[in-house]
Amino acid sequence: MAVQTAASSTGSTVPTVDLGPATALSCRECGHRVPLGPVFACEECFGPLEVAYDFSGYDTEGLRKRIETGPTSLWRYAPLLPVPADVADKPNLNPGWTRLVQADRLARELGVDAGRLFVKDDSGNPTHSFKDRVVAQALEAARAFGFTTLSCSSTGNLAGAVGAAAARAGFRSCVFIPHDLEQGKVVMAAVYGGRLVGIEGTYDDVNRFCSELIGDPAGEGWGFVNVNLRPYYAEGSKTLAYEICEQLGWRLPDQIVVPIASGSQLTKIDKGLRELIELGLVEDRPYKIFGAQAEGCSPVSAAFKAGHDVVRPQKPDTIAKSLAIGNPADGPYVLDIARRTGGAVEDVTDEQIVDAIRLLARTEGIFAETAGGVTVGVTKKLIENGVLDPAKTTVVLNTGDGLKTLDAVAGTGLTATIRPTLDSFREAGLQ
Ligand SMILES: *Cc1c(COP(=O)(O)O)cnc(C)c1O
Ligand SMILES: [Zn+2]
Repeated sequence: MAVQTAASSTGSTVPTVDLGPATALSCRECGHRVPLGPVFACEECFGPLEVAYDFSGYDTEGLRKRIETGPTSLWRYAPLLPVPADVADKPNLNPGWTRLVQADRLARELGVDAGRLFVKDDSGNPTHSFKDRVVAQALEAARAFGFTTLSCSSTGNLAGAVGAAAARAGFRSCVFIPHDLEQGKVVMAAVYGGRLVGIEGTYDDVNRFCSELIGDPAGEGWGFVNVNLRPYYAEGSKTLAYEICEQLGWRLPDQIVVPIASGSQLTKIDKGLRELIELGLVEDRPYKIFGAQAEGCSPVSAAFKAGHDVVRPQKPDTIAKSLAIGNPADGPYVLDIARRTGGAVEDVTDEQIVDAIRLLARTEGIFAETAGGVTVGVTKKLIENGVLDPAKTTVVLNTGDGLKTLDAVAGTGLTATIRPTLDSFREAGLQ
Protein backbone atom coordinates (compact mmCIF):
# COMPACT_ATOMS: atom_id res chain seq x y z
CA MET A 1 0.00 0.00 0.00
CA ALA A 2 1.48 3.34 -1.05
CA VAL A 3 1.84 6.29 1.29
CA GLN A 4 -0.34 9.21 0.30
CA THR A 5 1.82 11.92 -1.19
CA ALA A 6 1.28 15.47 -2.31
CA ALA A 7 3.36 17.71 -4.57
CA SER A 8 5.45 20.21 -2.57
CA SER A 9 6.34 23.69 -3.84
CA THR A 10 9.67 22.35 -5.14
CA GLY A 11 7.87 19.82 -7.29
CA SER A 12 9.13 16.79 -5.33
CA THR A 13 6.70 14.68 -3.34
CA VAL A 14 6.47 14.80 0.45
CA PRO A 15 4.47 12.51 2.72
CA THR A 16 1.21 13.91 4.03
CA VAL A 17 0.86 11.43 6.88
CA ASP A 18 0.80 13.11 10.27
CA LEU A 19 2.77 11.03 12.73
CA GLY A 20 3.79 13.94 14.98
CA PRO A 21 7.55 14.41 15.38
CA ALA A 22 8.37 11.38 13.19
CA THR A 23 10.01 12.58 9.97
CA ALA A 24 11.21 9.46 8.14
CA LEU A 25 12.31 5.88 8.49
CA SER A 26 16.05 5.31 8.61
CA CYS A 27 18.06 2.10 8.25
CA ARG A 28 19.78 0.95 11.43
CA GLU A 29 22.60 -0.56 9.36
CA CYS A 30 23.40 1.94 6.60
CA GLY A 31 21.42 5.07 7.56
CA HIS A 32 19.47 5.13 4.26
CA ARG A 33 16.27 7.17 4.69
CA VAL A 34 12.82 6.59 3.24
CA PRO A 35 9.50 8.44 3.73
CA LEU A 36 7.17 7.26 6.49
CA GLY A 37 5.26 4.25 5.18
CA PRO A 38 4.34 0.61 5.93
CA VAL A 39 7.83 -0.73 5.19
CA PHE A 40 10.27 -2.41 7.54
CA ALA A 41 13.38 -3.41 5.59
CA CYS A 42 15.96 -1.19 3.88
CA GLU A 43 15.85 -1.33 0.08
CA GLU A 44 19.64 -0.84 -0.03
CA CYS A 45 20.89 -3.41 2.50
CA PHE A 46 17.79 -5.22 3.91
CA GLY A 47 18.63 -3.80 7.38
CA PRO A 48 15.75 -2.99 9.77
CA LEU A 49 14.17 0.45 9.47
CA GLU A 50 13.46 2.60 12.52
CA VAL A 51 11.61 5.85 13.09
CA ALA A 52 13.65 9.07 12.89
CA TYR A 53 12.40 12.25 14.57
CA ASP A 54 12.82 15.98 14.64
CA PHE A 55 12.97 17.01 18.31
CA SER A 56 14.85 20.25 17.57
CA GLY A 57 11.91 22.50 18.48
CA TYR A 58 11.73 21.34 22.11
CA ASP A 59 13.19 23.20 25.08
CA THR A 60 13.83 20.96 28.06
CA GLU A 61 11.69 22.74 30.64
CA GLY A 62 8.75 23.24 28.26
CA LEU A 63 8.82 19.58 27.29
CA ARG A 64 9.04 18.38 30.90
CA LYS A 65 6.04 20.55 31.83
CA ARG A 66 4.05 19.32 28.82
CA ILE A 67 4.74 15.69 29.80
CA GLU A 68 3.95 16.21 33.49
CA THR A 69 0.62 17.87 32.74
CA GLY A 70 -0.26 15.35 30.02
CA PRO A 71 -2.65 12.38 30.23
CA THR A 72 -2.00 9.58 32.76
CA SER A 73 -1.26 7.15 29.95
CA LEU A 74 1.65 6.70 27.58
CA TRP A 75 0.22 9.59 25.54
CA ARG A 76 1.88 12.00 27.98
CA TYR A 77 4.96 11.19 25.82
CA ALA A 78 3.18 11.83 22.50
CA PRO A 79 5.74 14.59 21.66
CA LEU A 80 8.39 11.82 21.53
CA LEU A 81 6.36 9.18 19.64
CA PRO A 82 5.30 8.56 16.00
CA VAL A 83 1.69 9.61 16.63
CA PRO A 84 -0.40 12.70 15.83
CA ALA A 85 -0.63 15.35 18.57
CA ASP A 86 -4.35 14.64 19.17
CA VAL A 87 -3.78 10.88 19.61
CA ALA A 88 -5.36 10.78 23.08
CA ASP A 89 -8.70 11.87 21.59
CA LYS A 90 -8.89 8.90 19.21
CA PRO A 91 -10.46 5.60 20.30
CA ASN A 92 -7.66 3.46 21.70
CA LEU A 93 -6.89 1.61 24.94
CA ASN A 94 -4.80 4.42 26.51
CA PRO A 95 -2.24 2.00 27.98
CA GLY A 96 0.84 2.82 30.01
CA TRP A 97 1.63 4.90 33.11
CA THR A 98 1.73 1.65 35.06
CA ARG A 99 3.02 1.57 38.62
CA LEU A 100 6.67 1.49 39.62
CA VAL A 101 6.69 -0.49 42.86
CA GLN A 102 9.44 0.04 45.43
CA ALA A 103 10.09 -3.61 46.27
CA ASP A 104 11.71 -3.54 49.71
CA ARG A 105 10.61 -7.00 50.81
CA LEU A 106 11.88 -8.55 47.60
CA ALA A 107 15.08 -6.50 47.99
CA ARG A 108 15.66 -7.98 51.44
CA GLU A 109 15.30 -11.54 50.09
CA LEU A 110 17.67 -10.83 47.22
CA GLY A 111 20.23 -8.98 49.33
CA VAL A 112 19.64 -5.63 47.63
CA ASP A 113 20.00 -2.42 49.68
CA ALA A 114 16.71 -1.01 51.02
CA GLY A 115 15.03 1.48 48.71
CA ARG A 116 17.13 0.38 45.72
CA LEU A 117 14.94 -2.23 44.03
CA PHE A 118 11.86 -1.43 41.92
CA VAL A 119 9.43 -3.52 39.88
CA LYS A 120 7.90 -1.84 36.84
CA ASP A 121 4.59 -3.69 36.76
CA ASP A 122 3.20 -3.72 33.24
CA SER A 123 0.59 -6.33 34.09
CA GLY A 124 -1.58 -3.28 34.85
CA ASN A 125 -2.10 -2.51 31.16
CA PRO A 126 -5.59 -2.96 29.61
CA THR A 127 -4.92 -6.48 28.28
CA HIS A 128 -2.48 -7.26 31.10
CA SER A 129 0.82 -7.17 29.29
CA PHE A 130 3.30 -4.62 28.01
CA LYS A 131 2.11 -5.35 24.44
CA ASP A 132 -0.63 -2.70 24.70
CA ARG A 133 2.13 -0.08 24.50
CA VAL A 134 3.48 -1.25 21.15
CA VAL A 135 0.06 -1.98 19.63
CA ALA A 136 -1.09 1.56 20.47
CA GLN A 137 1.67 2.97 18.23
CA ALA A 138 0.99 0.49 15.42
CA LEU A 139 -2.72 1.39 15.51
CA GLU A 140 -1.91 5.05 14.80
CA ALA A 141 0.36 4.04 11.93
CA ALA A 142 -2.41 1.77 10.58
CA ARG A 143 -4.85 4.69 10.69
CA ALA A 144 -2.33 6.97 8.95
CA PHE A 145 -1.67 4.46 6.15
CA GLY A 146 -5.33 3.57 5.61
CA PHE A 147 -5.28 -0.08 6.73
CA THR A 148 -8.62 -1.62 7.69
CA THR A 149 -7.48 -4.92 9.26
CA LEU A 150 -5.00 -5.26 12.13
CA SER A 151 -2.97 -8.43 12.23
CA CYS A 152 0.11 -9.96 13.87
CA SER A 153 2.14 -13.06 14.54
CA SER A 154 2.13 -13.59 18.28
CA THR A 155 3.50 -15.65 21.15
CA GLY A 156 0.19 -14.91 22.91
CA ASN A 157 0.09 -11.51 24.56
CA LEU A 158 0.30 -9.60 21.30
CA ALA A 159 -2.74 -11.43 19.91
CA GLY A 160 -4.87 -10.20 22.84
CA ALA A 161 -3.52 -6.66 22.60
CA VAL A 162 -4.25 -6.49 18.87
CA GLY A 163 -7.72 -7.99 19.25
CA ALA A 164 -8.67 -5.50 21.95
CA ALA A 165 -7.20 -2.46 20.21
CA ALA A 166 -8.95 -3.39 16.95
CA ALA A 167 -12.27 -3.84 18.75
CA ARG A 168 -11.98 -0.45 20.46
CA ALA A 169 -10.92 1.39 17.30
CA GLY A 170 -13.43 -0.33 14.98
CA PHE A 171 -10.86 -2.25 12.91
CA ARG A 172 -11.20 -5.83 11.73
CA SER A 173 -8.56 -8.16 13.17
CA CYS A 174 -7.02 -11.49 12.23
CA VAL A 175 -4.16 -12.72 14.36
CA PHE A 176 -1.90 -15.77 14.13
CA ILE A 177 -0.49 -17.81 17.03
CA PRO A 178 1.21 -21.17 17.55
CA HIS A 179 -1.71 -23.61 18.06
CA ASP A 180 -0.47 -24.88 21.47
CA LEU A 181 -0.49 -21.71 23.61
CA GLU A 182 -1.76 -21.38 27.21
CA GLN A 183 -5.57 -21.35 27.47
CA GLY A 184 -5.52 -17.95 29.20
CA LYS A 185 -3.79 -16.41 26.20
CA VAL A 186 -6.06 -18.11 23.65
CA VAL A 187 -9.25 -16.97 25.40
CA MET A 188 -7.82 -13.48 25.93
CA ALA A 189 -7.10 -13.23 22.20
CA ALA A 190 -10.43 -14.66 21.04
CA VAL A 191 -12.87 -12.86 23.30
CA TYR A 192 -12.59 -9.51 21.49
CA GLY A 193 -14.37 -10.99 18.49
CA GLY A 194 -11.69 -10.90 15.79
CA ARG A 195 -10.34 -13.92 13.94
CA LEU A 196 -7.75 -16.03 15.78
CA VAL A 197 -5.81 -18.58 13.75
CA GLY A 198 -3.67 -21.33 15.28
CA ILE A 199 -0.70 -22.38 13.17
CA GLU A 200 0.76 -25.86 13.43
CA GLY A 201 4.32 -24.82 14.19
CA THR A 202 6.50 -22.63 16.42
CA TYR A 203 6.35 -18.85 16.66
CA ASP A 204 9.14 -18.66 14.10
CA ASP A 205 6.94 -20.63 11.66
CA VAL A 206 4.02 -18.28 12.39
CA ASN A 207 6.21 -15.26 11.70
CA ARG A 208 7.51 -16.69 8.42
CA PHE A 209 3.93 -17.40 7.31
CA CYS A 210 2.89 -13.79 8.07
CA SER A 211 5.78 -12.43 5.98
CA GLU A 212 4.48 -14.50 3.05
CA LEU A 213 0.94 -13.25 3.59
CA ILE A 214 2.09 -9.63 3.39
CA GLY A 215 3.52 -10.20 -0.06
CA ASP A 216 0.31 -11.91 -1.25
CA PRO A 217 -2.98 -10.38 -2.44
CA ALA A 218 -4.67 -12.31 0.42
CA GLY A 219 -3.00 -9.89 2.87
CA GLU A 220 -3.88 -6.71 0.94
CA GLY A 221 -4.96 -3.87 3.24
CA TRP A 222 -3.66 -5.62 6.33
CA GLY A 223 -1.45 -3.90 8.87
CA PHE A 224 0.72 -6.50 10.63
CA VAL A 225 1.68 -4.62 13.76
CA ASN A 226 4.98 -6.47 14.24
CA VAL A 227 5.89 -6.94 10.57
CA ASN A 228 5.04 -4.18 8.07
CA LEU A 229 4.23 -1.73 10.91
CA ARG A 230 7.17 -2.92 13.03
CA PRO A 231 9.16 0.35 12.99
CA TYR A 232 6.20 2.18 14.60
CA TYR A 233 5.21 -0.70 16.89
CA ALA A 234 8.72 -0.95 18.29
CA GLU A 235 8.75 2.71 19.39
CA GLY A 236 6.08 1.94 22.00
CA SER A 237 8.69 0.24 24.18
CA LYS A 238 10.49 3.57 24.60
CA THR A 239 7.66 4.61 26.91
CA LEU A 240 8.82 2.06 29.51
CA ALA A 241 12.12 3.95 29.71
CA TYR A 242 10.38 7.33 29.88
CA GLU A 243 8.00 6.22 32.64
CA ILE A 244 10.69 4.59 34.75
CA CYS A 245 12.81 7.75 34.68
CA GLU A 246 9.90 10.11 35.33
CA GLN A 247 8.66 7.90 38.19
CA LEU A 248 12.16 7.92 39.71
CA GLY A 249 11.95 11.73 39.74
CA TRP A 250 13.53 12.25 36.30
CA ARG A 251 16.51 10.09 37.16
CA LEU A 252 18.09 7.20 35.27
CA PRO A 253 18.14 3.84 37.02
CA ASP A 254 21.66 2.40 37.40
CA GLN A 255 20.58 -1.08 36.28
CA ILE A 256 17.55 -2.38 34.45
CA VAL A 257 16.57 -6.03 33.84
CA VAL A 258 14.52 -6.60 30.67
CA PRO A 259 13.04 -9.82 29.21
CA ILE A 260 14.04 -10.79 25.68
CA ALA A 261 11.73 -12.36 23.10
CA SER A 262 12.62 -10.72 19.77
CA GLY A 263 14.78 -8.24 21.68
CA SER A 264 12.81 -5.25 20.38
CA GLN A 265 11.72 -4.05 23.81
CA LEU A 266 15.27 -4.05 25.17
CA THR A 267 16.70 -2.11 22.23
CA LYS A 268 13.96 0.52 22.45
CA ILE A 269 14.34 0.96 26.19
CA ASP A 270 17.95 1.85 25.44
CA LYS A 271 16.81 4.24 22.69
CA GLY A 272 14.34 5.89 25.11
CA LEU A 273 16.99 6.38 27.80
CA ARG A 274 19.40 7.93 25.29
CA GLU A 275 16.69 10.30 24.03
CA LEU A 276 15.97 11.50 27.57
CA ILE A 277 19.69 12.21 28.04
CA GLU A 278 19.93 14.05 24.70
CA LEU A 279 16.81 16.11 25.52
CA GLY A 280 18.29 17.06 28.90
CA LEU A 281 15.38 15.49 30.82
CA VAL A 282 17.77 13.29 32.84
CA GLU A 283 21.41 13.64 33.81
CA ASP A 284 23.96 12.14 31.40
CA ARG A 285 25.52 9.27 33.32
CA PRO A 286 26.07 5.56 32.71
CA TYR A 287 23.36 2.90 33.08
CA LYS A 288 23.55 -0.85 32.54
CA ILE A 289 20.97 -2.93 30.65
CA PHE A 290 20.63 -6.65 31.45
CA GLY A 291 18.71 -9.08 29.23
CA ALA A 292 16.77 -12.06 30.62
CA GLN A 293 15.83 -15.30 28.87
CA ALA A 294 14.55 -18.76 29.76
CA GLU A 295 17.18 -21.49 29.45
CA GLY A 296 14.83 -23.40 27.13
CA CYS A 297 14.96 -20.48 24.68
CA SER A 298 18.22 -18.66 25.28
CA PRO A 299 19.81 -17.89 21.90
CA VAL A 300 20.86 -14.36 22.94
CA SER A 301 22.17 -15.42 26.34
CA ALA A 302 24.17 -18.24 24.71
CA ALA A 303 25.71 -15.80 22.21
CA PHE A 304 26.52 -13.31 24.97
CA LYS A 305 28.29 -15.94 27.07
CA ALA A 306 30.20 -17.30 24.05
CA GLY A 307 31.34 -13.81 23.05
CA HIS A 308 29.61 -14.06 19.67
CA ASP A 309 28.17 -11.14 17.66
CA VAL A 310 25.65 -13.31 15.86
CA VAL A 311 22.80 -15.28 17.41
CA ARG A 312 22.40 -18.94 16.50
CA PRO A 313 18.67 -19.87 16.31
CA GLN A 314 17.26 -22.41 18.79
CA LYS A 315 14.09 -24.51 18.91
CA PRO A 316 12.25 -23.23 22.01
CA ASP A 317 11.22 -25.55 24.83
CA THR A 318 10.20 -23.56 27.93
CA ILE A 319 7.17 -22.60 30.01
CA ALA A 320 7.99 -18.95 29.24
CA LYS A 321 6.05 -19.08 25.98
CA SER A 322 5.67 -15.32 25.63
CA LEU A 323 9.48 -15.17 25.29
CA ALA A 324 9.82 -18.27 23.11
CA ILE A 325 11.32 -16.77 19.96
CA GLY A 326 14.12 -19.03 18.77
CA ASN A 327 15.38 -16.66 16.08
CA PRO A 328 15.16 -13.16 17.64
CA ALA A 329 15.25 -10.37 15.04
CA ASP A 330 16.94 -7.87 17.37
CA GLY A 331 19.36 -10.35 18.94
CA PRO A 332 22.57 -8.77 17.59
CA TYR A 333 21.46 -5.29 18.75
CA VAL A 334 20.72 -6.66 22.22
CA LEU A 335 24.24 -8.12 22.42
CA ASP A 336 25.65 -4.77 21.38
CA ILE A 337 23.66 -2.84 24.02
CA ALA A 338 24.42 -5.28 26.85
CA ARG A 339 28.13 -5.04 26.05
CA ARG A 340 28.22 -1.27 25.43
CA THR A 341 26.42 -0.43 28.69
CA GLY A 342 28.39 -2.96 30.78
CA GLY A 343 25.33 -5.16 31.33
CA ALA A 344 24.90 -8.87 30.58
CA VAL A 345 22.43 -11.44 29.24
CA GLU A 346 21.55 -14.36 31.50
CA ASP A 347 19.02 -17.21 31.54
CA VAL A 348 17.18 -19.31 34.14
CA THR A 349 15.59 -22.77 34.14
CA ASP A 350 11.84 -23.37 34.15
CA GLU A 351 12.11 -24.39 37.81
CA GLN A 352 13.85 -21.12 38.68
CA ILE A 353 11.14 -19.23 36.75
CA VAL A 354 8.41 -20.84 38.87
CA ASP A 355 10.35 -20.15 42.10
CA ALA A 356 10.73 -16.51 41.06
CA ILE A 357 7.01 -16.15 40.28
CA ARG A 358 6.27 -17.40 43.80
CA LEU A 359 8.96 -15.19 45.35
CA LEU A 360 7.60 -12.02 43.74
CA ALA A 361 4.02 -12.91 44.69
CA ARG A 362 4.98 -13.78 48.30
CA THR A 363 7.10 -10.65 48.88
CA GLU A 364 5.34 -7.92 46.91
CA GLY A 365 1.83 -9.14 46.11
CA ILE A 366 2.56 -9.11 42.38
CA PHE A 367 1.44 -12.16 40.40
CA ALA A 368 3.66 -12.25 37.31
CA GLU A 369 3.37 -14.38 34.23
CA THR A 370 6.33 -16.59 33.31
CA ALA A 371 8.14 -13.65 31.65
CA GLY A 372 8.16 -11.88 35.05
CA GLY A 373 9.51 -15.07 36.59
CA VAL A 374 12.32 -14.88 34.04
CA THR A 375 13.34 -11.31 34.94
CA VAL A 376 13.09 -11.81 38.70
CA GLY A 377 14.91 -15.16 38.45
CA VAL A 378 17.66 -13.64 36.33
CA THR A 379 17.99 -10.70 38.74
CA LYS A 380 18.49 -13.17 41.61
CA LYS A 381 21.09 -15.12 39.62
CA LEU A 382 22.97 -11.99 38.55
CA ILE A 383 23.18 -10.81 42.16
CA GLU A 384 24.39 -14.23 43.34
CA ASN A 385 27.03 -14.23 40.59
CA GLY A 386 28.20 -10.74 41.55
CA VAL A 387 27.26 -9.31 38.13
CA LEU A 388 24.46 -7.02 39.30
CA ASP A 389 25.40 -4.49 41.99
CA PRO A 390 22.99 -4.73 44.97
CA ALA A 391 23.94 -1.23 46.15
CA LYS A 392 22.69 0.44 42.94
CA THR A 393 19.18 1.47 41.89
CA THR A 394 17.75 -1.45 39.94
CA VAL A 395 14.49 -1.74 38.00
CA VAL A 396 13.11 -5.19 37.11
CA LEU A 397 10.37 -5.42 34.51
CA ASN A 398 7.27 -7.52 35.00
CA THR A 399 5.72 -7.50 31.54
CA GLY A 400 2.66 -9.70 32.01
CA ASP A 401 -0.02 -11.08 34.32
CA GLY A 402 0.13 -14.46 36.10
CA LEU A 403 -3.55 -15.11 35.39
CA LYS A 404 -2.57 -15.84 31.79
CA THR A 405 -0.07 -18.58 32.73
CA LEU A 406 -1.82 -20.36 35.61
CA ASP A 407 -0.35 -23.74 34.60
CA ALA A 408 3.09 -22.54 35.67
CA VAL A 409 1.97 -22.51 39.30
CA ALA A 410 -0.40 -25.48 39.14
CA GLY A 411 -0.39 -27.21 42.51
CA THR A 412 -0.82 -23.88 44.29
CA GLY A 413 -4.21 -24.00 45.98
CA LEU A 414 -6.18 -24.59 49.13
CA THR A 415 -4.38 -24.75 52.48
CA ALA A 416 -7.14 -27.04 53.79
CA THR A 417 -10.77 -28.00 53.19
CA ILE A 418 -12.94 -28.05 56.34
CA ARG A 419 -16.56 -28.29 57.43
CA PRO A 420 -18.04 -24.90 58.40
CA THR A 421 -17.48 -25.48 62.14
CA LEU A 422 -14.96 -24.21 64.69
CA ASP A 423 -14.10 -27.79 65.64
CA SER A 424 -13.18 -28.57 62.09
CA PHE A 425 -11.10 -25.37 61.90
CA ARG A 426 -9.18 -26.36 65.05
CA GLU A 427 -8.75 -29.97 63.96
CA ALA A 428 -7.09 -28.79 60.77
CA GLY A 429 -4.55 -26.88 62.90
CA LEU A 430 -5.47 -23.52 61.41
CA GLN A 431 -5.67 -21.36 64.56
C1 LIG B 1 6.40 -9.75 23.85
C2 LIG B 1 6.78 -9.82 25.25
C3 LIG B 1 8.04 -9.37 25.72
C4 LIG B 1 9.18 -8.81 24.90
O1 LIG B 1 9.14 -8.95 23.57
P1 LIG B 1 10.25 -8.41 22.55
O2 LIG B 1 9.91 -9.15 21.32
O3 LIG B 1 11.61 -8.78 23.10
O4 LIG B 1 10.06 -6.96 22.42
C5 LIG B 1 8.25 -9.42 27.08
N1 LIG B 1 7.33 -9.90 27.93
C6 LIG B 1 6.13 -10.32 27.53
C7 LIG B 1 5.17 -10.82 28.56
C8 LIG B 1 5.81 -10.29 26.18
O5 LIG B 1 4.59 -10.71 25.81
ZN1 LIG C 1 20.31 -0.09 4.86
